[in-house]
Amino acid sequence: MAAVEKILDKAVDGGRLGRDEIQALFDEGGLLELGQAAAAVRRRRNPAAEATYIIDRNINYTNVCVYRCRFCAFYRKLDDAEAYVLPFAEVAAKVAETVAAGGTGILLQGGVHPKLRLEYYESLLAELKRSFPQVHLHAFSAPEIWYLAKLEDMPLREVIARLVQAGLDSVPGGGAEILEDETRRRIFSRAKASTKQWLEVHREAHGLGLRTTATMMFGVGESSAARVEHLLGVRELQDETGGFTAFIPWTFQDANTDLEGEVEPVGGFDYLRTLAISRLALDTIDHVQGSWVTQGPKLGQLSLYFGADDLGSIMLEENVVAAAGAQYRMSQADMERMIRGAGYEPRQRRTLYEPL
Ligand code: SF4
Repeated sequence: MAAVEKILDKAVDGGRLGRDEIQALFDEGGLLELGQAAAAVRRRRNPAAEATYIIDRNINYTNVCVYRCRFCAFYRKLDDAEAYVLPFAEVAAKVAETVAAGGTGILLQGGVHPKLRLEYYESLLAELKRSFPQVHLHAFSAPEIWYLAKLEDMPLREVIARLVQAGLDSVPGGGAEILEDETRRRIFSRAKASTKQWLEVHREAHGLGLRTTATMMFGVGESSAARVEHLLGVRELQDETGGFTAFIPWTFQDANTDLEGEVEPVGGFDYLRTLAISRLALDTIDHVQGSWVTQGPKLGQLSLYFGADDLGSIMLEENVVAAAGAQYRMSQADMERMIRGAGYEPRQRRTLYEPL
């Protein structure tokens, strides 16, 4: 235990934790001592009395996906009766509703559709930018961009540059799952972007001046060493580029997926410990997000005492984790009540954490 205390003191004082130290926190760190240290780091890095949130909407422009990940309940095959690609007008109507509800951005993600070409994505972004110049377009996860580059047989950088030219403002951290290839092989049924490729998309995006986020979906039966590997991969890229705005750890939801019944679902205890360790390990990432969408509002509140400084979106729409069983919904008033109830002042922010 003494060793854990020393590691926590080091992190609280701004020191960088090595692989063995992060692993020791997973192996031996007590819930409350991890939380206390993570909260101290959070207070040092972010306004101590405030917690932020955003109003935006997840729009899944298609549910068609070539990958069929074993943890996913959202995708449909191209010829499935429920397969869809939203018409542009429908996407635009959803953005208009978001703006009317006080939203400042949208998160656009598929499915990785086998037939949509670069021109489709460019037209979609350009049309949204033309109609809603004030709305931040946070769009297309690394596997979508990676696949598109392969489909077009174009360098990644060129594909991203074309998307930026069309209106892309930043890239979400989806598709990271666990950035450790043994775990990835087990939870994918087809070879989706590898750890190296996921990081490469973000490296190229950062190189073009885009900010991105990093996520970690945990609780798919991975080892704690795999989580450490994930944290270190994200931290190394942040050292190189400084392009990540935030880290968003959330837990796998198993309903309706191939992995249902195969892995032990993660409870609040593991969630809060992993959140706290993420805050302690990622010393160069400004923001860590609590996941009320998968954990519910009660643990959402508690996450603000385990390293999170932000509770993400009120989620006017969310389809992916909803398909896998998470059904939490929240109004802006509920979000503010939740944050105030935890003793913080709520502050609405924009996608890149700029205050409103
Ligand atoms: S997680 Fe994403 S890439 Fe995997 S099957 Fe679902 S939609 Fe496709």
